[in-house]
Amino acid sequence: MATPYPHLLAPLTVGSVTLKNRVLMGSMHVGLEEERGGFEKLAAYFGARARGGVGLMVTGGVAPSRRGWLKPLAAKLTNQREARQHRIVTDAVHTEGGRIALQILHAGRYAYHPASVAPSRVKSPITPFTPFPLTGRGVERTIDQFVRTAELAAQAGYDGVEIMGSEGYLVNQFIARHTNRRKDRWGGPYANRIRFPLEIVRRTRAAVGPDFILIFRLSMIDLVPDGSTWAEVVELAKGLEDAGVSILNTGIGWHEARVPTIATLVPRAAFTWVTAKLKGEVGVPLVTSNRINMPDVAEAVLARGDADMVSMARPLLADPDWVQKAVQGRPEAINTCIACNQACLDHAFRNKRASCLVNPFACHETELVITRAHRPKGVAVVGAGPAGLSAATVAAACGHRVVLFEASAELGGQFQMAMKIPGKSEFAETVRYFRGLLEERGVDVRLSTRATIDDLKAFDEVILATGVVPRPLDLPGADGPNVLSYLDVLRGAEVGQRVAIIGAGGIGFDVAELLLHREPHEPELEDWLAHWGVDRKHSVPGALLTPAPERPDRTVHLCQRRPGKLGRKLGTTTGWIHRAQLKQGGVQMHASCVYHRIDEKGLHVDIDGKPTVLEVDHVVVCAGQLPERSLEQPLRTAGVSVHRIGGADEAAELDAKRAIDQGARLALSL
Ligand code: FAD
Ligand code: NAP
Ligand code: SF4
Repeated sequence: MATPYPHLLAPLTVGSVTLKNRVLMGSMHVGLEEERGGFEKLAAYFGARARGGVGLMVTGGVAPSRRGWLKPLAAKLTNQREARQHRIVTDAVHTEGGRIALQILHAGRYAYHPASVAPSRVKSPITPFTPFPLTGRGVERTIDQFVRTAELAAQAGYDGVEIMGSEGYLVNQFIARHTNRRKDRWGGPYANRIRFPLEIVRRTRAAVGPDFILIFRLSMIDLVPDGSTWAEVVELAKGLEDAGVSILNTGIGWHEARVPTIATLVPRAAFTWVTAKLKGEVGVPLVTSNRINMPDVAEAVLARGDADMVSMARPLLADPDWVQKAVQGRPEAINTCIACNQACLDHAFRNKRASCLVNPFACHETELVITRAHRPKGVAVVGAGPAGLSAATVAAACGHRVVLFEASAELGGQFQMAMKIPGKSEFAETVRYFRGLLEERGVDVRLSTRATIDDLKAFDEVILATGVVPRPLDLPGADGPNVLSYLDVLRGAEVGQRVAIIGAGGIGFDVAELLLHREPHEPELEDWLAHWGVDRKHSVPGALLTPAPERPDRTVHLCQRRPGKLGRKLGTTTGWIHRAQLKQGGVQMHASCVYHRIDEKGLHVDIDGKPTVLEVDHVVVCAGQLPERSLEQPLRTAGVSVHRIGGADEAAELDAKRAIDQGARLALSL
């Protein structure tokens, strides 16, 4: 049968190796690398993705030396003993018919330890340590360490290595003037600054022979001041080809760049035009990357000729069977990565094991295992938000007879609201995925049905996934006509030109973003790039222009009672983006607020002790949520076995990550 994805699923020959398709699983540090027993868990994790049909996988970054560690005791590969530990991973992948390369990553000034080194003594804005500049001998020694790690990777059974030359790590630090202020043969003119990557590749190729896959991840657009120009990128790419790379992978932006490159508000495939510019300049296969998460997107990118392969990292955390489902022509069955970063990158940055918000089984393959129940039970799940969807589908997979009650006419709970926020339309994919899974697993779904005690009494187990209700505001005037709850706004209530929002949590930020646009829309790529100051022509170093955000449609005040920066609890890797967006939209942020009353003039409030009236047409209340548990006590009194998950269990600090994870774990335990 003809596939809708002929370019994506076409094999690719690289040297003496034929990859079965054009999907490269990009490097992700998941935290198992340093865990006790982590190699067995990594073997299961990579094995699952190899079984799912990925053409080539790249491991998380492994340091070639202690100095290159991202943090103390991070993964390194510097001796035979460590190489032997990797065997279980490479064997697992090869048994499943996959291919895997080890990424060699030297953190340079991005290392989170005081012994970090870099080309020059230039501190990074995202780490507290100033690096030691490498001596000339230190540079030579570092190159030898890269080569040694590549040799050890070959001994460990890897099919290749990827030299991490992008995202602002050590190799990239040598290339860009931004961080390379050296006056010796490794600094100064561009030809000197690229000597480091070229020597690493040349000497590695000489050491590992012609058949070993040698990928270089090239920063094609730095998005930092004093980054490379496009002419320099092309010069380096050609040099790398001559030095012996087999594949060039694309890096977009340094970690310190203030342009979002992978978050959910980044349009799908927003940066493949960067790789496309390099097509025709070199003969080796090019891999493109960033926000490619569904087969039709990947196919379009490849069919257009932007690249020869697509790199996806997070989408394969979200669904290990992504490729297989594309092969089967079942894209609707894919659990799509919504690019939230909440369980993957945010965990990595907090030294926690990564997983996936929409797939809590990711990186827990040996611990969370679906097995058929010996005695299948009758299970009622009340509420089809993320928690209930997760519990119902996992319980059904275990063989239980599951009925899912949902009071509204739609699945998804609060995801139905989240998807209305500009830049969050991906949340609809999760609802689509669960809808298909409920059907596939035979769950009896009863929409528009508010479950009652009578409906539930006969079940062996009742799972309350009834979510939350908005916290009412206890303030004079809170019942006035000019006061709306976030639910009213998200359901389309008319909102005036001047608005004050009470509560600056995730929902307060999202509502502020929504209110900046009279007509919420997904921006055109050109507009989005201009908004964030990305130079499409790449005519300036680093491709950075002055951001040109759209003019906001409203005056918005965002208020919280706590002192300090607003949005402190937003995601580690995404909070800065939300803050930057609201700042660009002119949102006035007020901390240390004491609210007094609301009347026809607006919100009467002390800000930092000063009495003020925020003269607004509407006050929108986003003051958190309370659990909805009204069914619990009557059910317990009736002797029913009741469980709570998601918001129904605990509304404080609730997010969809906890809701989905809790749902899955409870269902496995029934
Ligand atoms: P809910 O999603 O609230 O679902 C509960 C469901 O139960 C509802 O559908 C309700 O109709 C149903 N129900 C209640 N009582 C009954 C009954 N008696 N019978 C039948 N059905 C009943 N989280 C994140 O992690 N990341 C984000 O970026 C994010 N963005 C958000 C943006 C917005 C605008 C909003 C509103 C929320 C956002 N959230 C986000 C929060 C996230 O959606 C919630 O944490 C999550 O939905 C909680 O899941 P839940 O299943 O516990 O409850
Ligand atoms: P939240 O994050 O707990 O924020 C509630 C806000 O209301 C806080 O700013 C709080 O700040 C204020 N508040 C609390 N009680 C109040 C009161 N009695 N009067 C006035 N203000 C009060 O909750 P949320 O914004 O409703 O979000 C719900 C959940 O959804 C969150 O846990 C969040 O993780 C998740 N979510 C996540 C994202 C995301 O991007 N990751 C986006 C949306 C939602 P002060 O006490 O300082 O005033
Ligand atoms: Fe994608 Fe979010 Fe899962 Fe990370 S946690 S893989 S960004 S869906």
